[in-house]
Amino acid sequence: MNINFKELANKYQTPYYVYDFDHITKQYNELKSAFNARKSLVSYAVKANSNLSVIKHLAQQGAGADCVSIGEVKRALKVGIAPYKIIFSGVGKIDDEIRQALELDILMINVESEAELERVDSISKELGKEARISVRVNPNIDPKTHPYISTGLHENKFGVDIDTAKRMYIKCKNSENLDAVGIHLHIGSQLTELEPIKESVKIVADLVRNLKAINMDISFFDVGGGLGIVYDDEKLIDTNEYAQMILEALFGLDITIVCEPGRFLVGNAGTFVTKVLYEKVNGDKRFVIVDGAMNDLIRPALYNASHKLEVLDRTEDVSDCNLVGPICESGDFFAKNVDLPKTEHNDLVAIYSTGAYCFTMSSNYNTRGKVAEIAYENGEDRLIRKRETFEDLIALEEDYLK
Ligand SMILES: *Cc1c(COP(=O)(O)O)cnc(C)c1O
Repeated sequence: MNINFKELANKYQTPYYVYDFDHITKQYNELKSAFNARKSLVSYAVKANSNLSVIKHLAQQGAGADCVSIGEVKRALKVGIAPYKIIFSGVGKIDDEIRQALELDILMINVESEAELERVDSISKELGKEARISVRVNPNIDPKTHPYISTGLHENKFGVDIDTAKRMYIKCKNSENLDAVGIHLHIGSQLTELEPIKESVKIVADLVRNLKAINMDISFFDVGGGLGIVYDDEKLIDTNEYAQMILEALFGLDITIVCEPGRFLVGNAGTFVTKVLYEKVNGDKRFVIVDGAMNDLIRPALYNASHKLEVLDRTEDVSDCNLVGPICESGDFFAKNVDLPKTEHNDLVAIYSTGAYCFTMSSNYNTRGKVAEIAYENGEDRLIRKRETFEDLIALEEDYLK
């Protein structure tokens, strides 16, 4: 990555996110080629970064989409992802979302409870349209990641246990409206160990074999997302080992492998750039205050996440400080107790690995407009989302003033 953050700051102001599209391509190709030996579909988990240009870029590489709301399904369709590459997941779907997903004829609805299967059954009956579904199995394996992004334990709200899954497949078999084409698991995010994924995949593959024994053929084995990235000095799962492990677990089964990476594709591609307002000292504590804030980038506050960061063009007078935003919350920090050089007004700070779950989690708290998003591709930059203005922020309210 050879992006001139300063030039972009002059051109687009700060704070901003910039995404290295060439890195996204590289990540996609790495994963896709790891599954070369089999029929596979890489469906991008849109919630990681749902900018239309990001989704379109992945669509052009051949990616499908894993969506968790009908809004995300519509984003995927809007940029040209074919319905047969779109999966709709999520633990609670609104009736109308189920209806629209059926009408849009997407690949499959990923069902997460018996109650939801009932809803899908009756809505598909109402529409006179067969529903292709997959069941999300919760294998009860500890993925060894942050509790907020762990999803594969029974204590998490996601998926169903094996026995429930079996009942659900039998229900599909006996229903005229339900076509069980897939099986799904997703045990967590930012996974850096292969073993928990391996155990989970084995458990679910066994279920596929049991279903086959009762003449239920599952066409899609969806291993979910979760592959970790480097934030600090993590040792990552090797994608070839990952793919090999899955292929081995599915030995002898004629099944298409689906995976749903989000963070892996876009996380390391993003950088958040913010400007120093000033420094202050409270007692013994040094604070560097910047124009970006927790509403722009909430991962440090939400997950206690640490991101590598750097004050550009400064190296002198390094000392301990907290890097914080202007918002009235003590949770409004980017880093605590980090060594940073002495800064001046208008210095730039780059916060790395912010391509996933950063802009998409941003809000307008404190009446702060969402920041600009920029794509960087083949040595060129272009705006892919305009910075929000005050007028944008009040547009849905001002007509109702009495
Ligand atoms: C969030 C999510 C993903 C993507 O997770 P990453 O850790 O970003 O790869 C994949 N599948 C489902 C069902 C999800 O909810």
